[in-house]
Amino acid sequence: MEIKHIKGQTFCIDTGMTYIPFYKIDNENIIMLDTGWADGEKEGLTAILENNHFKIVGIINTHAHIDHSGNDAYFKEKYNCPIAMTTAEAMICNSAINLKLYYSTLSLEEIFVHLGHMICHVDMLITPTQDSIEMCGITFKILHTPGHSPAHICLITPDDVAYIGDALISRDVMDGAKMPYAFILAEDLKSKEKLYKLNCSQYVVAHKGIYDNITELITNNIRFYKLRAEMIGDLITTPMTLEEVVQTVRKSFKIPIKDVYKYTLIERMLRSYIEYLSDTGIIKKAVNNGILRYYK
Ligand SMILES: [Zn+2]
Repeated sequence: MEIKHIKGQTFCIDTGMTYIPFYKIDNENIIMLDTGWADGEKEGLTAILENNHFKIVGIINTHAHIDHSGNDAYFKEKYNCPIAMTTAEAMICNSAINLKLYYSTLSLEEIFVHLGHMICHVDMLITPTQDSIEMCGITFKILHTPGHSPAHICLITPDDVAYIGDALISRDVMDGAKMPYAFILAEDLKSKEKLYKLNCSQYVVAHKGIYDNITELITNNIRFYKLRAEMIGDLITTPMTLEEVVQTVRKSFKIPIKDVYKYTLIERMLRSYIEYLSDTGIIKKAVNNGILRYYK
């Protein structure tokens, strides 16, 4: 892991997989924008913060996904710092039962096993109309970009650096992505369109890039997600059950599914594309002899 300087007091930690921005209030105190993934990043993040004698005095999350808020509870406990998050995302990670509202295809026991570490109490709630948040005297502007998750936000530091979170992915990630995740694809596409209006001096995309201009990246992202939806739609050549769609897409996209957890994730990812194709009228669904099938 290494620290990259972006502009002014805005930096980011390059974990290898992700850029995690932070705002340096002074030589010691920092505000983290997201906290990374617990499984793969907790040790490295702890070490890099300690080696630089940094103390986290606040955390603002773009959204409550495992690779973005995975170390919230851990850092809150370690540094006794407040956490800020949108109301909806804060509600989701408030308890295992609430996590089940979002991760509905996992059982409660599976949620404890895979996502239990995400459970945390959020101290500052960001409402859907709030356009800024002040933490430790530092004001961050907010752009609401729901879709990737229920209430995803982008954050703009006082240095005019926009942290885009997962509202966009980099070209490299697109090249390797088989089926990038969106909670509600249609809303995610609308939020991507909103990003055209941003006029910041730098942009940080979590997975993973730093840009002076994101106009082309936005266009490419919109095109890429729509193309993936189209490819999935094209695979539904005959009436198919959800399971048949999962298997057809798995084979065509060469997605390895080795265990129940991965299967559940892939099915969840696929569902948002199927909902998008259904809502836009590209595919239809009907029940025949008690079996739900998707068809053109
Ligand atoms: Zn995410």
